Amino acid sequence: MTIRAPFPIGDTTAAAGRRTHTELPIARLMSGTPVALPVVVLHGVSDGPTVWVNAATHGDEIIGVEIIRRVLALVHPGSMAGTLITVPIVNVHGFNTGDRYLPDRRDLNRAFPGSARGSLASRIAHLMMTEVVGRCEVGIDLHSGSDHRANLPQIRGDLSDTRTLELAMSFGAPIVIDSRVRDGSLRGAATEAGATCLVFEGGEAYRFDETSVQTAVDGILRVIHHLGMIDDLAPAAPPSLLATSARWVRASKSGVVDCRLALGARVTKGEQMGVLRDPFGKQLGRLNAPSDGVLVGKLLHPLVNRGDAVLNVAVTE
Ligand SMILES: [Zn+2]
Repeated sequence: MTIRAPFPIGDTTAAAGRRTHTELPIARLMSGTPVALPVVVLHGVSDGPTVWVNAATHGDEIIGVEIIRRVLALVHPGSMAGTLITVPIVNVHGFNTGDRYLPDRRDLNRAFPGSARGSLASRIAHLMMTEVVGRCEVGIDLHSGSDHRANLPQIRGDLSDTRTLELAMSFGAPIVIDSRVRDGSLRGAATEAGATCLVFEGGEAYRFDETSVQTAVDGILRVIHHLGMIDDLAPAAPPSLLATSARWVRASKSGVVDCRLALGARVTKGEQMGVLRDPFGKQLGRLNAPSDGVLVGKLLHPLVNRGDAVLNVAVTE
């Protein structure tokens, strides 16, 4: 049996059947300390697809770090086909300071595909594209809610693309939501580069929500099994619900939110999901479901200004 050629990454190579940890240099901190993008590559023993999983493009959305840690503990390159590139912390600066954005306030997920000579965000995006995304046929971008909002575990992708739909359904999340790509997003640039990209959303910023973590770990294992890379390691999941979009219900008045519905609740069009009150209890407004659907996102911080996004309903009608 011939040994599979190693996979070059950065200034090193990942040997077949091995787990390789490397660091791709980004820039120095102002203090002179080097900053690098940590990457772990599992290079399988036989040919197969190259797939990436990344997390913390938003530095406060740390849930994917735990998801990737668990996936790496379960997948063994010695019995794997293809190559799995994991990047658990894309926004290294924001992760270290608990910040969603980069030090110059730029949103890394609006800086793709980036350039080698642009802003710090643009350079990190460019590094991700050249070393990771541009070499993969499939990828999964892990996110959570932010700004005191929690998300039901869900997959987002362009479901008009049959390959995306197929892989999204193989993930086995409770719900799969059709969503258009945003300019400058990692998913948008990956799609442009010819990759199939799924976005996972689950849990909230600064927390490891166990249900979301386990859903994502099982989902990633199902996708790479579906691609023929590993044996079947995750339990079978019930078929995902399909949603055509997701719509935020906004506060019609400033005040205090009272919503007792849990994430995942089924709602019908016009149903009262919660109310807005003043601090003494006078009702100011209602939060009604805009369509039949499922509650997939919820503001946990109960104080809102008029116009704030409070409840996110995935449209299933
Ligand atoms: Zn995010």
